[in-house]
This record gives sequence, C-alpha cells and structure tokens, in this order.
Amino acid sequence: MQPAGQDAVVAVVRCDDYTPDRVDAAVRRAIDLLGGIGRFVTPGESVLLKPNLLQGQDPERCVTTHPTVVAAVARILVEHGCRVVTGDSTGAGIVYNEANLQRAYSRCGFTAVAEETGTTLNYDTSSQIVAFPEGEVMKQFSIITPAIEADAIVVVSKAKTHMWMRMTGAAKNLFGLIPGLEKPVYHFRFQDERTFGKMIVDLNECMKPRLQIVDAVVGMEGDGPQAGSPRPIGVILAGTSYAAVDSVLARLIGMDPLEIESTRSAAERGLFNPTAIRTVGDEPAEFTVSDFKKPSTYTGGSVGIWRRIVLAVVQRFGRTYAPRPGVIDSSCIGCRKCERICPVHAITLIEGRATIDLSRCIRCYCCHEMCTEHAIALSRSLPGRLLARLLG
Ligand code: SF4
Ligand code: SF4
Repeated sequence: MQPAGQDAVVAVVRCDDYTPDRVDAAVRRAIDLLGGIGRFVTPGESVLLKPNLLQGQDPERCVTTHPTVVAAVARILVEHGCRVVTGDSTGAGIVYNEANLQRAYSRCGFTAVAEETGTTLNYDTSSQIVAFPEGEVMKQFSIITPAIEADAIVVVSKAKTHMWMRMTGAAKNLFGLIPGLEKPVYHFRFQDERTFGKMIVDLNECMKPRLQIVDAVVGMEGDGPQAGSPRPIGVILAGTSYAAVDSVLARLIGMDPLEIESTRSAAERGLFNPTAIRTVGDEPAEFTVSDFKKPSTYTGGSVGIWRRIVLAVVQRFGRTYAPRPGVIDSSCIGCRKCERICPVHAITLIEGRATIDLSRCIRCYCCHEMCTEHAIALSRSLPGRLLARLLG
C-alpha cells in the first residue's frame, strides 16, 4: 500500500457544484489519476473515513466536508470491498459523546450518507494512547479508537481559511483524531503557530493516512474555520502527501505554501520536496482565486526572515499585535461552549453571558471557532492596528 508522504503527485479535478453525479465523477477521476483506489486499500480492509465534523453544521455553510464528497469516497471504497466507518471527534468545545455525535452527523448530512452507502458511523467515544517516539514535539498521542482500529485512514477534508493556522485542508484535518475535550491541552502546550504546525506533522506521520481528498468545490474564506463565508473554488484535490496537497490548495487560495506551518515543518524535515510537486488532471491555474479573503488575523504571505523576526519580537513582548477576542453580549446565549474549550480558563459566565479575562488569554481563538452564535468577535487594539499596517 501507498505509504503517506512519499508521493508529491496531486490530482486536480474540476467540480463546479455539489450535484451528486458531478461530485461522484470528479472524485472517481481524481482517484483514477493517482492510479486507482487499489493503490491505497485492499478489499476486506476496514477504513476510517475522516471528514471535518466539528459540531455538525448545515453543509451549505461550508464548515464541514460536503456530504456528497463523503458519499462519493465511501461508495468507491465499498465497491472495492472495504468496510467503511465515518468518524471524527466533535469540535473542542463539545463533549465527545454519543448524543453529540448523533446530532453532529445528522446536521451535516453524514447520517443520510451512511444510510445511502451502507456504511457505518462511529459512536465509540473511547480513545487510546499511541506512542510515537520519533516525533519532533510529541512522543505520544491520545487518539480516538476508530482511527486505531481501522486498517487505513482516508481523509476527506474541507478547504478553509483558519484564524490561527491560516489554512486548514489535509494536514490540520487530522487534529480531529484527538478526543474533543483533550484538544485544548494541545492548544495550551503549543501556543504558537510554528510548534502547533510541528505537532500536526507529528500527528500525520504517526497516523499515516493513506489517501487525502479535499473538498474545495466551495471552500470557506475569511474567518474560518467556523465563522467565514462560502467561496467557490470549483475543484476536488487528491493525493497521498498531506503537505503536497496542502501546497496546491494554498496556491489556489492565494497563499504561499510555506507560510502554512505544517507544510513548512514537513519540508524542513525532508518529508516532502516543495519543488517536486506534480499536478495531474486539470490545470490548477484555472481555479486560482487570488482574492480569496484571508482571516482577519492574517499576517501576510511573506515568510522573509525580517518579517519573522519582527513578528516573533512583537508576539513575544506583548499581545499587542494579535487580535483580541471580545464577547458580543447581545448575541451570547450563555451556552458555555467557549468556557469549556478555553485552554487557560480565561472565560467565565457572568449573569448568563461569557466574559473574557484578556490578561490570561493566549489568543488561540478556539472560543471564536466554537461559538455557533458568532458572539465572539476579534479586534485589534490601536497599537495592534498600527503594527498590522506596518507589517501587512
Ligand atoms: S460566547 Fe458563544 S460559546 Fe460562549 S457562552 Fe456565549 S454563545 Fe456560548
Ligand atoms: S479566551 Fe483566549 S485563550 Fe481562551 S479560547 Fe478564547 S482565544 Fe483562546
């Protein structure tokens, strides 16, 4: 079977909308361009299909992987004789239990996909420790059981901008294998983009998904991964190397691949060669959306040494630059999701509304990501705005 991270070929296939037949044809063509599904899985194997689930949202909001894409991949695996389980842990602010999984699957259309394709949804909420002694920043992970029990993992991710990691596609998707309420521990431990990116690479190298499919038919721009807006890109991407697939995606949305820290870390570790990526299928330039809206936290595409030094100094000596989360009282319904997720316990509920202690806040933006009411806004202080203008 194809090991992860060794093949820099990325299939790029036009798919203009989510009409099931069109998606099915595009996904089949993408996998065929890579050599066919038999290159990645064998009949009889059990496969974990790993989409973006978060808390489950209406597919049209583009927070989660579109169900037509999940269904297309599931069908191909079933036809090949694989046993398919779709699973992910719920987003970090949500307790990872059967009731919440049921709600999330149903909301984003995965329940209907399972019924239609004769596949299974995971309800096992246990996790196990997986040792990874060769990891750069993590020597072991706590991983949801279905990912450990599966013979193979196939990732079906959504193309989105990301407030903290700039972009989420193939590599970052695997963070969902960490059980829901354990995710804040990782945010607490890896408080900067760079080390978090290294952890994501360790996780991918530990779990070695065999195949990556990215739903970039309609992606999310702006303040992703939860509060951005849908933006058509019109393409399905597929490959085996998470870093190569993410590199192609980054270019499509107007970013430098090496400004994505997981991609940069994979390149620095020699896990892929950014100059050796080869695309097959349609011409990527046809799908480039150069004005794809970046997150409000975005610090620009240049990864030049001076910019890095300035940013490192700014970030080290104060939280001046990074946008601050603030609660919009009129939108807050007091659900406590943000309070549960905050890795440094900076959020408390006062008189039924969330309140943030900014002196404790580490600017991880998990609260912003998790608030389904859009009640957490991000804004820069005046000095921060001036710095942003200087650096931007
Ligand atoms: S800010 Fe959002 S997540 Fe936090 S309590 Fe209010 S509604 Fe819930
Ligand atoms: S309050 Fe700050 S530290 Fe807590 S979740 Fe929000 S951004 Fe992260």
